[in-house]
Amino acid sequence: MAVRLAEPAALKFWPNKIFGSQILQIFRRKYTSGSRKFLDPKMLCKQGKIKETLKILQATKHTKDSSVYVCLLEECIKKRNLLESKLVHNHMKDRGFLTDTFLGNKLIKMFAKCDSVEDARNVFVEMPKRDVFSWTAMISAFVRNNFYKEALELFYEMRKEGIKPNEFTFASIITACANSAAAEKGKEIHEEIRKSGFESDVVVGNALVDMHGKCGNLDLAREVFNKMPQRNVVSWTAMIAGYVRNGQGEKALKLYRQMQDVDVKPNVKTLTTVIAACADLAALEQGKHVHGEIVKRGFQFDEFVESAIVDMYAKCGDIEMARVLFDKMPRRNAVLWTTMIVGYAMHGQGKEAVRLFERMRRVEVIPDAITFVGVLSACCHAGLVDEGCRIFDSISECSHIVPSMEHYGCLVGILGRAGRLDEAHNVINKMPMKADATVWGSLLGASRIHRNVELGECAAQHIFELNPKDPGPYVVLSNMYAESGQWDANQKVRKMMKDRNVRKNPGCSWVEFNHQVHTFLVGDRSHPQTKEIYLKLERLSRQMKEAGYVPDRSFTLNDVDEEQKEDMLSHHSEKLAVAFGLINMDPRRTIRVIKNLRVCGDCHSAIKFISRIGAREILLRDANRFHHFKDGQCSCGDYW
Ligand code: ZN
Ligand code: ZN
Repeated sequence: MAVRLAEPAALKFWPNKIFGSQILQIFRRKYTSGSRKFLDPKMLCKQGKIKETLKILQATKHTKDSSVYVCLLEECIKKRNLLESKLVHNHMKDRGFLTDTFLGNKLIKMFAKCDSVEDARNVFVEMPKRDVFSWTAMISAFVRNNFYKEALELFYEMRKEGIKPNEFTFASIITACANSAAAEKGKEIHEEIRKSGFESDVVVGNALVDMHGKCGNLDLAREVFNKMPQRNVVSWTAMIAGYVRNGQGEKALKLYRQMQDVDVKPNVKTLTTVIAACADLAALEQGKHVHGEIVKRGFQFDEFVESAIVDMYAKCGDIEMARVLFDKMPRRNAVLWTTMIVGYAMHGQGKEAVRLFERMRRVEVIPDAITFVGVLSACCHAGLVDEGCRIFDSISECSHIVPSMEHYGCLVGILGRAGRLDEAHNVINKMPMKADATVWGSLLGASRIHRNVELGECAAQHIFELNPKDPGPYVVLSNMYAESGQWDANQKVRKMMKDRNVRKNPGCSWVEFNHQVHTFLVGDRSHPQTKEIYLKLERLSRQMKEAGYVPDRSFTLNDVDEEQKEDMLSHHSEKLAVAFGLINMDPRRTIRVIKNLRVCGDCHSAIKFISRIGAREILLRDANRFHHFKDGQCSCGDYW
């Protein structure tokens, strides 16, 4: 639209008319042309000047052309500014543009992106006619803002109205199922998708892989993944993430290698997910490689990526490197601080964890519930009783956190492990919620350390009621009986296990070597180097006995004779993994072993001997924490 600009007053009195008109032309060229462009509403809008655009539109009486509104809405979708979005909405209402379904759908999307599901819903409700796109826009508005239940309800309402979903509806609704753990509904809708032929759509396929992965149905996820006619980086990432989420790190890494083989470029989410797999497996070599990849590809390091990397180094046993990276990071949010604190907790460096926690408070980063679990468990592992109690009391100072079951569990562990068993028991009796099996488990563990059979029995009884199929407490209790020479009671527990059909979880250990994860079960003979490994263990066992090692037979729960017991004991998975490391790895390097369960007492003392005899540093991550073995000592001080 043309805008009249006042001509400079002086020009009217310019003596030379011709010269004056030239000046005028120059003036016009300089200002008017620019202004004309500047004041075209669509141009203004594209520059992100929403309010200015609206002002001009208000000055014009009639607009029949809706294209400027399309432009405004698209700009608002980009900017995600709720205030401006509302101005646009109000203006369109005044001008009667809300009857247009196409614009209405864009309005819903705009409000969804501004995280105002209420405004989106109002637009949706007021729309005179709705098509599949409006319903889909509203469903995805709900999904985007984490209103999964509402999304599902709307989906069923839409079906009732007889409107057929399209691929975008399906993709949204599957995402809703994924995030609300609605596995059964998800399977039903999957069946429908299959029938309507949308399964081969890449967006729908990705959502399905993601959903089945999140709901723990990995076979279904893999089936969809395998059948997809086209796979993009999102598909690969969803499948890898499914494996990681369900504790199948090896499969995740294998799939990542396949992805590289077919030349699909990873994005930052892929690499963050792969880093998490490396952390779970303590696959340090591969973790370092992926870290390098993130740097090489120039991806942005946001706090999630940074936390994943720090977490990986900590879980792979390189707590020093984790700290170096942590210190280098320019911004640190609560997640990153918590990751580092939990890292120290796992390594038994309680003082360092408490120091870091206090620094976090000083720089005014607000801890969340998990931060407290981290620092309290650090106190527990390191036997820091006073600090632990003080920090527990300070939870209530954070108005947004109410002490949860986990926090009470930590407190029970802190007091119990320090031998203050009655106080620990008291905490359980007085806590505001009914203690769960984990909390009783803390008391059971503490009772075992301090050889209080009576309290151990009491704790175990509670666990048997709450969680009768968990083999852990049966094993601990029977070991307690064995240690105190109560063989009848020991037999009774074994019989109870048999009657209730409770099986000991198979112990499993693994070690990374040459970018490969080598896994061992108890008495495993499937590894190609089995012969060497068993020979090595035999030789070690002789050397260890000469050095004063006595096998602790109470750690086997089997009806076999003593000699056989010792044999089984010497072939526990963690010993096999350590032997493998001794045979294959450079003697200057630390052997890093992971075990899925808690390390058994016999293996713990055996590995201490091995670290001295073999002059090797051995790092063992068990289900609870890290053990650094060096010169015949362990970092846990036999307190775990
Ligand atoms: Zn063992
Ligand atoms: Zn230890």
